[in-house]
Amino acid sequence: MSKHIYITRKIPEAGLKLLKEKDITFDMCEEHNPPTKKDIICKLKKKPYDGVISFLTDCIDKDVYESCPTAKIFANFSVGFNNIDLETAKTKGIEVSNTPGTSNTAVAEHTLALMLALTTRITEGDRYMRSGKYKGWDPELLVGTDMKGKVIGLIGSGAIGSEVARTLRHGFGSTIIYSDVVENKALEEETGATKVETDELLKTADIISLHVPLLPSTTHLINEERLNMMKKTSFLVNTSRGAVVDEIALVKALQNKTIRGAALDVFEFEPKLAKGLAKLENVILTPHIASARDTARNMMAEIVAKNVISVLETGKAINSVIK
Ligand code: NAD
Repeated sequence: MSKHIYITRKIPEAGLKLLKEKDITFDMCEEHNPPTKKDIICKLKKKPYDGVISFLTDCIDKDVYESCPTAKIFANFSVGFNNIDLETAKTKGIEVSNTPGTSNTAVAEHTLALMLALTTRITEGDRYMRSGKYKGWDPELLVGTDMKGKVIGLIGSGAIGSEVARTLRHGFGSTIIYSDVVENKALEEETGATKVETDELLKTADIISLHVPLLPSTTHLINEERLNMMKKTSFLVNTSRGAVVDEIALVKALQNKTIRGAALDVFEFEPKLAKGLAKLENVILTPHIASARDTARNMMAEIVAKNVISVLETGKAINSVIK
């Protein structure tokens, strides 16, 4: 009998093609705004779906699983999977998968773009020009700092952190230090990176970039105390998950010039911003688009489809995150 799945938001044709080739039919929500948990439950109750493709904006928990007891997999269309209750999935024998490695290039390049935007003050310059303030060349106008020669501190040295390190080492000759719960020998050999304690990294690095998953141990990893450890001249970049940074403490640190600046692609109260953040000149904000590239999105679509197919054919996901 043919299988039928539910897709909570639109995915690229590359993934749909793979499903169609296997005669897996689907209902796909075409709306742009993220569905609420209630919306998802309402849709899942309508049919006995065999699986679900979910997104990082979907809250997938016990209530959702119970609304669709026939679903054998929740294939998450992202690298992170902090939106999914894995414990309950495991108890119920439901597979959960992610899309590892699909956005290394995209997120690393976005991280680099944010670092360069901070050091070159490009976004401030753009705002300045558009507001008609430019009256001619001025040697003191928007003076930035070089990327070359800087010490880069990476918190999290997995797939994305490593890609950032490689690009910086080979492109800018950066000195790389990193902190992680595991040692990354390959990265050390390839880039000369040195593993240090997180507090030492914060005190030493000129640019600190976050590449950890959101876990209880990484929630508010960057808090007021740690922001105070950073140098007054240093920058913070976050393309991981918003709640890794205490955003209210960050606003205070940026207002008080405790650090020089920050660039954020992810936000603690997403899609809302902490009070005062958007008013600051020394912060760059992008709307969670670090992986928003055609290549990455197509790969993600193929991987979610392959995980669905694998579970429906063999009972096992290729990229299971159930431990
Ligand atoms: P990964 O699993 O390859 O690497 C994560 C690294 O963090 C690992 O080396 C792990 O050991 C380390 N780590 C875990 N807990 C830690 C802790 N408490 N302290 C220090 N290090 C710790 O993951 P990845 O592919 O590099 O992705 C990292 C994160 O980036 C994802 O979990 C996701 O949340 C985020 N992400 C964001 C976007 C975006 O669009 N902004 C896109 C993709 C991924």
